[in-house]
Amino acid sequence: MSLEIVGVSKTYGNGVKALKNLTLSIGNNMFGLLGPNGAGKSSLMRTIATLQDPDSGSVTLDGIDVVKQKNEVRRILGYLPQEFGVYPRMSALDMLHHLAVLKGITAAGERREMVDALLHQTNLWDAGKKSLSTYSGGMKQRFGIAQALLANPRLIIVDEPTAGLDPAERNRFLNLLASIGRDVTVILSTHIVEDVRELCPRMAIIAAGEVLLEGSPSETLRAL
Ligand code: ADP
Ligand code: ADP
Repeated sequence: MSLEIVGVSKTYGNGVKALKNLTLSIGNNMFGLLGPNGAGKSSLMRTIATLQDPDSGSVTLDGIDVVKQKNEVRRILGYLPQEFGVYPRMSALDMLHHLAVLKGITAAGERREMVDALLHQTNLWDAGKKSLSTYSGGMKQRFGIAQALLANPRLIIVDEPTAGLDPAERNRFLNLLASIGRDVTVILSTHIVEDVRELCPRMAIIAAGEVLLEGSPSETLRAL
């Protein structure tokens, strides 16, 4: 997987310049995007996820243009926004089965195998039949990962996933990211230094819409 962000700028209707000629290359493995609130992380994540067009510049995922080829990009990308909604009355099990059907996996046996594996992988097997409204913040985040993995994406973007999680849930979630990061590229957007220090071989620091530093956490964080 190769994500190329070249000279991306975005100014909102209220005049806020959220992204300023930002250039960044992201390869395989887990990539940390660290920056304070208001740095432009969500703006950049929404741009990569095809939810918001930049004013200028380009973003390509394995050569596929996120502005011009939105549907193609959506097929190979999983996105967990900062606050994502779940259908509260459904269980994780039912929801994943529905999504798998929508994805065209109609053979019941194949679907069950896939959904069961995802529930185990995300540590939700025991709670799989409970309604999503009863889930804790950490469980919802892990369910979001299960949902994203169902599409077999090349890239998963998670935006501030550990905000509001207690330390045990945070560890559990970060461990899950680390395990899926071996197979799928993960971009972890966060304002928490420890999240990237522990998990990401490569990272960038972003502030006021610009990349300040880029490299391994040991190089990058030493300079702070
Ligand atoms: P655009 O110029 O991209 O259309 P707008 O300023 O019109 O952007 O806002 C688009 C949406 O984003 C609106 O629903 C608005 O409520 C919301 N919004 C506005 N300001 C902010 C902000 N500072 N942070 C997050 N969302 C915002
Ligand atoms: P971060 O995710 O790093 O907190 P954001 O991308 O959410 O940063 O925000 C970058 C800047 O753009 C902030 O000043 C924010 O208030 C502003 N902003 C974000 N979304 C919108 C929007 N839809 N409309 C207007 N301003 C926005």
